[in-house]
Amino acid sequence: MSITVSNPVKPGVRLVPAMIGKVDREQRVYIECPAWCVIDHVAEPETHVEDISHTTGSACIVGMSLTKTGIIHALHSTVRTDPSSDDPRLKAAHVVVDDESEDAYMTPDMAEEFADALISFASAVRQQARAARLANLPADSDPDIDEALRRVRERDAR
Ligand SMILES: [Zn+2]
Repeated sequence: MSITVSNPVKPGVRLVPAMIGKVDREQRVYIECPAWCVIDHVAEPETHVEDISHTTGSACIVGMSLTKTGIIHALHSTVRTDPSSDDPRLKAAHVVVDDESEDAYMTPDMAEEFADALISFASAVRQQARAARLANLPADSDPDIDEALRRVRERDAR
C-alpha cells in the first residue's frame, strides 16, 4: 500500500509559523508566505489572520539639503501582497511606493512606468548638477572663455 501526499503549497510559497490573536492570547498557526517575504510573522503578531500581509525589504532614496540637517525627502518601495484583500489587485503581488505620508499601490506595469519616469528624473537632476558645477567654476575656467583664449593664442602664434 502506498500513500501519496500532495504538496498543498504553491511554488514560490512556503509554510511559515505566524502568531494570531489578541495580545497574550495568540495562537501559533501556519500560513502560506511568499519566498520573497521578509516579515517574521511570529515576531510581528496580528490580531486576525485577515490582517496578514507579505512584503519584501525596502528600496529607499533620500534627499538632503545643504541648508537643513536630516532627511528632507524620502521614498521607499516594496513588493507586497494582501491575501485577504477584497481588491484582486492588492491580493496579487504589487509594488507600494511610500513617501512617508501616503502609499501609492502600483501594478507591475504601473511600477515599471514609474521607474522609467524616475530614470528620466535622475538624468535631469544629473544634468542640472553639471550645469550648477559649470556655473560655479572660476570665470577663467569657463569652457566658452577657454575656447576664446585658445583661439586668441592660436591666432597670436601664427
Ligand atoms: Zn510573509
